[in-house]
Amino acid sequence: MLKKFPFLAFCWVGFALIVACGLLLLYLTYPRLVSIGGWAVFAPLAIIGIQAAVLGVGLALLTATSLSGVDFLYVYGRRSVTVRMLFPVALFLAKLIRYDRMKLMASFVEVNNSLTVARSARIKGERILVLLPHCLQIDICQRKVTGDLTNCLRCGKCPVGEFIEMGEKHDLKIEVVNGGTLARRRVAMWKPQGIIAVACERDLTLGILDVIPIPVYGVISDRPHGPCINTNVDMKMVDEAINFFKKNR
Ligand code: SF4
Repeated sequence: MLKKFPFLAFCWVGFALIVACGLLLLYLTYPRLVSIGGWAVFAPLAIIGIQAAVLGVGLALLTATSLSGVDFLYVYGRRSVTVRMLFPVALFLAKLIRYDRMKLMASFVEVNNSLTVARSARIKGERILVLLPHCLQIDICQRKVTGDLTNCLRCGKCPVGEFIEMGEKHDLKIEVVNGGTLARRRVAMWKPQGIIAVACERDLTLGILDVIPIPVYGVISDRPHGPCINTNVDMKMVDEAINFFKKNR
C-alpha cells in the first residue's frame, strides 16, 4: 500500500495544479474575454470543466481500483488518458522537489500491477509474453540469445536458462530484448493478451505506458553489479506474475 502512495500523491497534486492553472489563466484573461462576448468566457470554462472531469474521474477510479483491488475502471475505460496525461506531470513535480525518480517509477509499477490484478476478470491468460532485458544474461556468455533463445545452453550461469524452462513448463513465450524498439516489435508480433516484463524502473515504466491497454505485470530487476550488467530477478515475484496469468486461462 505504501509503495503506491508516491505515484498517486504526485498525480493528485499534478491534477490540482492543472485545474488551478486553467482557472488562473481564465481569471487573468476574464476582462478581455467578457469584452468579446459571453461565449468567449463559456467556451474555455467548458473546456477546463470537461478536462477536469475526465482527468478527475479517471484518477479517482484509478486510485480506488489500485487501493481496493476492485475493478472500478471497468465502467470508465479512460485509464490510458489519465495515466498518459498525469505521468509526465508527476515526473516534473518529482524533479521540482528533487524526489527520487526511481522511487516514483517503482511506485508507478506497483500501481500498474495492482490495476492489472484488479482487472483479472477481463484478462485472458492464454497468450502471455515474457519480456526479459538483455542484461540478465551474464556478460561472459558469448551465446546470442536476443532473437533466438535456442542458442542458450541453459548452463545455469544466469537466469536466462531458467526462464526458458519456465516458459516451456507454463506455455509462455519468452523473449530477451535489448531495448524498447525490439520489445515493441515483439509485442506487435505476438499480440499477447498479457505481458510479464522484467526490467529496471525506467524501462518498465516506459514499456508499460507504451503498450497500454495490454495488461502488464512488471517485475523490477535487481542490479547488484550496477545498472545494465549481470542483473538478476526475484524468481518468487516472477512466479507470482505467472500464477496470476495462469489463473485466467
Ligand atoms: S544460461 Fe548459460 S548459455 Fe544461457 S544465456 Fe545464461 S550463461 Fe548463456
